Amino acid sequence: MVRFTLFGVPVEIQPWFWLATAYFSGGLFSATPEAMQYVLIFVLAATISILVHEFGHALTGRRLGGGYATIQLWALGGLATNHGGRFTRSGRFWMIAAGPGAGFLLGGLIFVILVSMFGVHDAATFAGFSLFGITDSAVSSETMEFIQNRPPLMSLLNSMLWINFWWGILNLLPILPLDGGQIAQLFVTPQKRAFQISVATAVAAAILGFVWRDSTYTIFFFGYLAWKNYQAMKEYHWQ
Ligand SMILES: [Zn+2]
Repeated sequence: MVRFTLFGVPVEIQPWFWLATAYFSGGLFSATPEAMQYVLIFVLAATISILVHEFGHALTGRRLGGGYATIQLWALGGLATNHGGRFTRSGRFWMIAAGPGAGFLLGGLIFVILVSMFGVHDAATFAGFSLFGITDSAVSSETMEFIQNRPPLMSLLNSMLWINFWWGILNLLPILPLDGGQIAQLFVTPQKRAFQISVATAVAAAILGFVWRDSTYTIFFFGYLAWKNYQAMKEYHWQ
């Protein structure tokens, strides 16, 4: 367990966070030290990116009257919690939106760094390949040489870009307790509807994610959320 305080916010990082992230990077079982280096780079990028996302929630929440904020990183991502305050409806909305917002800003900053290094065309080509696997256009030979000569640096930029974009998109899905689910909860009545939407979206995401990325992590992540929401839905029914 790692604990520290930053900007007055106590942060706790559980070992499971790093294990799950290393597993997700796909290289955990690689035997060579060189491959392990890329696992470490991905874990570093994920730690920074998810902390920035959570600090978006925590600092905005504190500013909007949510009270004392804490952050926890655990197996399935991050959690920012406000204690002792009270949000207005719009305050709660902006506190939730600030998490993905902070991540998209950091992803945008990485893109600006890429533009300053390679120019707009090559930066866009790099980002298109990194985020969507687009291979339609090629980077210049100087850019390619730079990329090939600095694998750790480019791996870090690639991971930062990918994680900040996709973690933001994933969190905006209407699945509780993800940000999108919490936003949906602000707008739907009765509350049970938010759990039903969560179960349906999580099941669809588990299937799509597995088909698209062939990722067991995706199955576990969305499967767990579908199950938790199904439980919550049933309990709600009995109340
Ligand atoms: Zn969030």
